[in-house]
Amino acid sequence: MFESFINLFFPKVCSGCDSFLVANELVICTLCRHNIPLTNHHLMENNEAFKKFYGRIPVIHASALFYFRKKGIVQQIIHNLKYKGHEKVGTLIGDWYAHELKTVEALQDVDAIIPVPLHPKKLRERGYNQVTTFGKALSSNLKISYNDTILHRNIYSKTQSKKNLLGRTEGIESVFDVVFDEKDHNKHFLLIDDVITTGATLEACSRALLKIPGAKISIVCMAMAQS
Ligand SMILES: [Zn+2]
Repeated sequence: MFESFINLFFPKVCSGCDSFLVANELVICTLCRHNIPLTNHHLMENNEAFKKFYGRIPVIHASALFYFRKKGIVQQIIHNLKYKGHEKVGTLIGDWYAHELKTVEALQDVDAIIPVPLHPKKLRERGYNQVTTFGKALSSNLKISYNDTILHRNIYSKTQSKKNLLGRTEGIESVFDVVFDEKDHNKHFLLIDDVITTGATLEACSRALLKIPGAKISIVCMAMAQS
């Protein structure tokens, strides 16, 4: 009773394992931080995230910070971020990843960070886009502008039907739309999302952004499903 009362005002449990956080621990406990599976993609140009898009869309750089494994810490963290309102998780991951990405040569000329958009109806239901805090943390650390108005999702779909729609080649083009003018020409866009699974959503977003003359695309995600 007392515990739940305290937690109501100070909800300080780890987003990875639900254990109570001690002093100096923020969002994720020390044990989870040590056990979280890192990809080290940013140290390898030709990494597995980059290879995922090879032959599908031209990307300058692609990487994810963590491996996403079934029943693992990262699945728990992303679930809390996506469905439980733990938006601070996104800030933590963005601060963490910005520190690693600062030295990546291929990202030095990025002009804008673009989140994979939610459909407005989904945004109203969830109340927030789960990649916003991640993107804003990258934006402030890397000093790159954040643009969540250039890319739009046209089709509202439940998770399953989205999968079906994006799984087919036809239909992909119509899911996302881009709204731009001349000042957006010849820019390097950094597209961001939570988890890379098949890469179909990111591919569709990239295709939309590539309609902008002279556009270059890079992709950075919090995690990548481990195959
Ligand atoms: Zn933990």
